[in-house]
Amino acid sequence: MSTHLKRILITGGAGFLGSHLCQRMVDAGHDVICLDNFFTSQKSNIVHLLDKPNFELVRHDVTQPFMAEVDEIYNLACPASPVHYQYNAIKTVKTSVMGAINMLGLAKRTKAKIFQASTSEVYGDPEIHPQPESYRGSVNPIGLRACYDEGKRCAETLFFDYHRQNGVNIRVVRIFNTYGPHMHPYDGRVVSNFIIQAISGQDITIYGDGSQTRSFCYVDDLINGFIKLMDAPDEVTGPVNIGNPGEFTIKQLAEMVIEMTGSKSKLIYKPLPKDDPTQRKPDITIAQEKLGWEPKIPLAEGLAKTIEYFQSINLADYRKPTDHEVQ
Ligand code: NAD
Ligand code: UDP
Repeated sequence: MSTHLKRILITGGAGFLGSHLCQRMVDAGHDVICLDNFFTSQKSNIVHLLDKPNFELVRHDVTQPFMAEVDEIYNLACPASPVHYQYNAIKTVKTSVMGAINMLGLAKRTKAKIFQASTSEVYGDPEIHPQPESYRGSVNPIGLRACYDEGKRCAETLFFDYHRQNGVNIRVVRIFNTYGPHMHPYDGRVVSNFIIQAISGQDITIYGDGSQTRSFCYVDDLINGFIKLMDAPDEVTGPVNIGNPGEFTIKQLAEMVIEMTGSKSKLIYKPLPKDDPTQRKPDITIAQEKLGWEPKIPLAEGLAKTIEYFQSINLADYRKPTDHEVQ
């Protein structure tokens, strides 16, 4: 990281990934503005930062323009869990697309460097395995996941058009499934669901037969990748895959969680959501070669830290973002 102190805007800063990034940037002494509308998060993730002189919290929605003098922008604002991004699909598209336009406009005016949290979902249900950045993906543009997948694809388009047309200094990361402390206990994604179910003695809900695969990255590894990409030479715009290539079936994950928590929970099977990708694993060659980055924390070690976190929180302190069910 460069040594001079920067003014950094983090949208979605109260969320799972955003709160870790805020922490890292505050610890490094930077002046941090955390912007969030608290759709899928609560202040609890960043409450310990509120009394720091170099941390500022702004309740704001990225679909509306925002003005501030900043040196760097990390654009993370977007619901990330299928159950919550499908709740108001039109709003999800607006958040990705109008959020990108508003933040890119701010970057253009202030000459800030801007980072986009894109996703492995741009590959859809991939026919190529593992997925390199050159793979153009297999997304159903009219399906239930399209609000998220196509919203993120359009945001990538906007980033590269602002870069080509206006010379905006961009960084685009494609994040593969990441987990860890500060996930919302009612986030609805697989790792938090399984751990909460296991530690509270509920049945573990496997969607489909559990043979679909995902590659799980621990949050600290991911944030290291974010910072390396932001600090890389300007020609390294991305897109860059950041994720852990270790690939597991969802059933294997459920069995690991049961074993590690010592839970008596049973596995139950529910219908597979529509367009649920059958396999996913990042090709991280570009991250290794251009950023000198690779993940260090294996799944068992990261799961142990995450289980410890969920055992330490009081579920009564959390409000469900939506009552929506994944379809
Ligand atoms: P999260 O839901 O915990 O965080 C998203 C944050 O954005 C929340 O605090 C939410 O309140 C906020 N937000 C949502 N809509 C907003 C809006 N219109 N205006 C302002 N704030 C808004 O999810 P996360 O896992 O921390 O994801 C962060 C980013 O990373 C997202 O853009 C997501 O698409 C991307 N991503 C995450 C993963 C992962 O595995 N965690 C994978 C791929 C991509
Ligand atoms: N999944 C599951 N049980 C759950 C939540 C998710 O079996 O309680 C499955 C889901 O169908 C998908 C995988 O776990 O195949 C990962 O889902 P998640 O929502 O975490 O993220 P995705 O990678 O699908 O965006």
